[in-house]
Order: sequence, then structure tokens, then C-alpha cells
Amino acid sequence: MDQKLTIALAGNPNSGKTTLFNALTGSRQHVANYPGVTVEIKNGLCRYGEHKIKVVDLPGTYPLTAYSPEELVARQFILEQKPDVVVDVIDSSNLERNLYLAVQLMEMNVPLVLAFNMADVAKARGLEFDLNLLQLLLAVPIVSIVARKEQGIEPLLDVALKAARTCGTRQIQIPFGQQVESQLEKLAPLVNPQSDYARRFGARWVALKMLEGDRQILALPHNSQLLTGVELAIKELERHYHESLDIVIADRRYGFISGACQETVRTTVQVRHDMSDMIDRVLTHHLWGLPIFAVMMYVIFYLTFTVGAYPMGWLELLFGWMGSVMTAHWPAVWPEDVRSLLVDGVIGGVGGVIVFLPNILLLFLGIAFLEDTGYMARAAFLMDRIMHKIGLHGKSFIPMLVGFGCSVPAIMATRILENRRNRLTTMMVIPLMSCGARIPIYALIIPAFFAPVWQGPMMWMIYVIGIALAIVCAKLLRVTVFRGETAPFVMELPPYRMPTVKSLMLHMWDRGLMYLHKAGTVILFFSILLWAAGTYPKAPAEKLIKLDASQRKSVQLQYSITGRVGKMMAPAIKPLGFDWKIGTALIGAFAAKEVFVSQMGIVYSVANAGQRSESLRKHLREDYSPLVGFCIMLFCLIGTPCVATVAITAREAGGWKWAAMQYFGLTALAYILTLIVYQAGRLVV
Ligand code: GDP
Ligand code: MG
Repeated sequence: MDQKLTIALAGNPNSGKTTLFNALTGSRQHVANYPGVTVEIKNGLCRYGEHKIKVVDLPGTYPLTAYSPEELVARQFILEQKPDVVVDVIDSSNLERNLYLAVQLMEMNVPLVLAFNMADVAKARGLEFDLNLLQLLLAVPIVSIVARKEQGIEPLLDVALKAARTCGTRQIQIPFGQQVESQLEKLAPLVNPQSDYARRFGARWVALKMLEGDRQILALPHNSQLLTGVELAIKELERHYHESLDIVIADRRYGFISGACQETVRTTVQVRHDMSDMIDRVLTHHLWGLPIFAVMMYVIFYLTFTVGAYPMGWLELLFGWMGSVMTAHWPAVWPEDVRSLLVDGVIGGVGGVIVFLPNILLLFLGIAFLEDTGYMARAAFLMDRIMHKIGLHGKSFIPMLVGFGCSVPAIMATRILENRRNRLTTMMVIPLMSCGARIPIYALIIPAFFAPVWQGPMMWMIYVIGIALAIVCAKLLRVTVFRGETAPFVMELPPYRMPTVKSLMLHMWDRGLMYLHKAGTVILFFSILLWAAGTYPKAPAEKLIKLDASQRKSVQLQYSITGRVGKMMAPAIKPLGFDWKIGTALIGAFAAKEVFVSQMGIVYSVANAGQRSESLRKHLREDYSPLVGFCIMLFCLIGTPCVATVAITAREAGGWKWAAMQYFGLTALAYILTLIVYQAGRLVV
């Protein structure tokens, strides 16, 4: 066989390219222990078995202007010389820095092999690599070599020849974040597919380079639509990130690398000194890591609860005042039903939900802080060990954490998962992550039944129950409906950063606005609907004579549609400790979880004045035991995902059957667990 293959040696300066070149070709190129010695491209011939291989040593002097000069040289060569395989020579004693070029070569989609050179130095420094895992994570074959001692040369050639023949099976793409990705999706179709770069490296690559501000690629002839598109995209993204875009993109690559190394490199000797590493040593410690995470979440929930109580009180006063002012000044000639609609339906319903805005903003602020500092990625990393046990990747934990805010964006965030079974499993269990809309329910119930010292722990417990159930359900799903292997992949670990106040506020407001939007639309609509269902049909007048005002209200409610449906449900939910009033409120919770609270308010018609939720709590205390209170929270935590969740699941999973499975599955689970807790609880308490 006389087929001639070309192997190109790429790599950072001083990584040992020329040494490897000499070992392969038997020539004696000048080797020196300082960067930039190789001036021009050197060719040599290597005979290996029956193969004749052309080996090319790429130059080590680079234009100093480019951000990543090694990449520039490599891509030029790949474009012009079309090597069959690129061997990236990596100084494995300096892994993270050297992997940057490797990642860029991966982006170029060339047949690639990583030669982990200087294995001797790495060993002496106490570095141990899990090469099998790292190959899987990067989807690139890796061979450990010591070029200077000509060790590992034959395995390297075997692997390189194989890579040249079977050009790449699994490709991984470094995710640049949703914002950048959506711009890339928009820009890639505008790239001229016939240009050399697009044909060799793909349109996405060209678009990415343009976003990075790569002068060489920008200088190519492009259509004006693409150029203006790129300009706009850069402006928009830089406004979003408050940082130059090439740095944002580079950070993503480093985050990817750092995540890959965190999982596969072990240091037996302490040589790490970088600030982020030092923080990581504490926060991702195998013993303290998870407890620290649990404490952090606890602190956030605690603050949400205690600090949030003050502005919540003010808002309650405001809405109570609005209701009583309107009642006091309502002209006698105007219809009484309209007043009731406005005061009890609109102000009572929507106001009852808006009072929880401070809680929700505080929770979102906490989550935004964890996200922006970079801690959230570590939390996902820590969870990876547990997530693997339940058949999910640690990355699944990120959508789940978003689920603490709202299931809707969380289900959208499952897009970061590349494996479909993983993604569907994650989607199914996301509603178990107690979302912000459930806070109003807890905030109503917990203070009603539990002493202040127990309020924080109760809240924490509810969240933990949700997480634990999600884990159990995910495991069940992964061994049944969504059985199958998942390829491991890298979790990015961005450097720790102090977030700016501005970006935190933006984050918080974005999500807060979503909540308000829901209050203004879905909840307004259902408040009115539920008010009407609670007001009509009117009880016949003869039934109301000789009754005082509050008795009248209660008779009227029981006569209405809501009361009737609630009573119809009553036998079914009685084993859970629930009566028709709770049933009625649960009907509302399907629209949006927080409607439970406003519905309870209407059921008890406590929209009169002043301390709204305090008087509602008094009613609850009179009617139910703490056990029932807990069961309400448990049922609302697990069961009946809201309309918006059902809709988004159907869309993202690609079918109503998944949404139906989620809805009925979770509701059945809620019923069974609440039943067990209530019946067992009655025996104990
Ligand atoms: P280049 O800039 O990538 O071409 O790197 P060179 O081939 O010039 O090598 C840089 C330095 O690293 C030289 O001093 C080599 O002798 C040394 N070197 C290369 N490979 C190894 C290795 O596997 N182990 C050790 N300890 N040193 C090596
Ligand atoms: Mg050299």
C-alpha cells in the first residue's frame, strides 16, 4: 500500500512539536527550550509499517496581534494543505492552557488526536489523568507520550491513522450560552456556504469567528446582511454581558476546559494556586461541598422568608386600603355586583398574588447571585456525582435549579441537555422543584400553623422533599420509560466573578416581570372567572333571610358553581384531610399555583380590610390542623402542574402525550403521598 497520508502537528509553543517531529521522521530539527524556535513549516517523511506518512511541523513563530495565534496558523494550514489528521501536541503538565487550542481545533471539525506530551513532567508534578473519561468527554482520542524519550510514538501513529480513516463519529460543540447560540443560529444561514472557510469549517464556525471579531474572517467578502447582522449581534450581546464579546466566548471555552479537567485530572501534589482554584478547593470539596450548598440554599430561602415579610406587609396594607376606600365611596346607585367584582375579584385576587412579589424577587435575587458568581455551575458539578447515580448528568441540575424560579423557563432550559432521554426525564420531574408561584401558598400556610422558629425549617423541608422526589422519580423513569446509556459530557466551570449590582438587578427584574405579567393576565382572568363562579348562581332570597352578613356569604358560596364543584370533589379528597373549601381552591391552583391563595381568600370572603392574609390565616387555624396545612403544601408541591407548565412541556417535548404523562403522573403521585402522610399523621398526632 502506497497511500500517502498527511499528519500535521499543531500545538502551543514549547509543547514539544519539533521533538515529536524529529522522533517521527528521524530528522534533527533544531529543538530549543524556549518558545518560537520553529520559523517555517517543516516537512518530513515517516515510514510506519506499510504506511508512508508525510509529517508537517507547524511553525512556532506567530503574528503577535491575534488573540490565539496558534489557531490562526493551524487553520490556515488546514484550509490550504488539507491534512488527513491533526495531532495537537499538548504539554500535559500545563493542561488547561494547552487545551484551549485543542478546543478550537475541535470547533474546526478536523480529524484530531491529542498527544499528551511531557507525560514524564506531568507525573513528576503529581498530575494524574483519567484519559479514558477525558476522551469520552471531549470525543477526541488521546495518547500519552514522552516525545523526548520517544515513548508512545507507535500507539500515537496507530490512533492517528485510525482517526484519519474514520473522520469523527461523535462531535461535541462547546455551548456558548443561550444568547450567543441564538445569534449564531440567526447568522449562520447568512454565511456564504461556498466560501472556503464555510466549506471547510462550517457556517456556524464562520459566524462564531465573526462574533469573536476575528479580523481575518471579517475581512473576507461577506454580504452586507451578514455584516450588519454581526454588528448588531455584537452590540446586543455586549450590552447583555457588559463585557467584550471575545472575552465572553473565550471564558466559555475556558469554562468548558476547566469543567473537563475538574472531572479528569487529579493532583497528588499541591501545585494549584489560582484564586478560583482556591475557592473551588473549599466549595467543591468532596465532603463539605454538598453541606455548603445546602446551607447556601437554606440562607437564601430564609432571607426570602424573613426579609420579604416587611414589604409584603406594606403591600397588604395598600391593597386592603384600596379595597376599603372603594367600598366606602361606592355610590349606592351603582350595581353592588360590580363593586364585589372589583374589590373581591380583581383587587382581592390579583392583589393577593402581587403581595408575594417581594418574596419572589428576593428568591430570584439569590439565584441570580449564585448564577452570576459562577457558584451555580459548581453546584451542578457537585450534584453530578448524585445525578450520575440516578442516570442523569449534573447538567440536568441547572434546569432543575431554574425550576425553583418557574417551571416554564426551566423546561426551556433543558435544551442544554444533548441526550433526549435525559432531557425528557429532566422535564418530567422539573415541576417537583418548588417554583416561585408556590411560595405564596407556603407563605400563607406556614405562619398560619407553625411557630416562627419552625417557619424557616418547614420551608426548607418542603423544598428538600421536592428535590428528593425528583431524584427518585428521575431514577424510576431512567430505568423504565427512558432507559438507555448516556454519553458523558463536560460541565463548564466559569471563573468566579463578583457579579455587578446592575446585572443582578436585571436578572431579578426579568423574572419578576414574568411573574407580574402572569398576575396581570392569567391570574386576572382566572380571578374574575373564579369570582363569577363563586357569585353565581345567586342563592334564592328566602334562604338568606334571618342570617347575618357572614352567614349569608357562606350560604351564597355553597350555592354557587364553585361551591358545588368543590363539594362534588369533597368525597374524593376527604382521605387527604381536605374539605370542599380546599377543593375549591385547588381548582384555582390549576390555572396558576398562586391562585390557590386568592381563591382561599374569596372562599372565606376575607377581602374586607386591612391584614388580608392574617385574617385568612386565622380562618385556616380555626378550620384545619397543622397536619392538614402540611398536606396542602405537599399536594400543591407535587401535584397538578399549572396550565403554563403543561403547555410548555407539550411544546418542548414535542407532543401532548408527554405533557399528559407529566400531569397525571405527578397528580397521582401527589394523591398517594398526601394520602399516606395524612393517614399516618393522624395516627401519630
Ligand atoms: P515546540 O516549540 O513545540 O516545537 O517544542 P520543542 O520540540 O522545541 O520542545 C521544547 C522543549 O521541551 C525542549 O527542551 C524539549 O527537549 C522538551 N521536551 C519535548 N518533549 C518532551 C517530553 O516528552 N518530556 C520532557 N521532559 N521534555 C520534553
Ligand atoms: Mg518547534
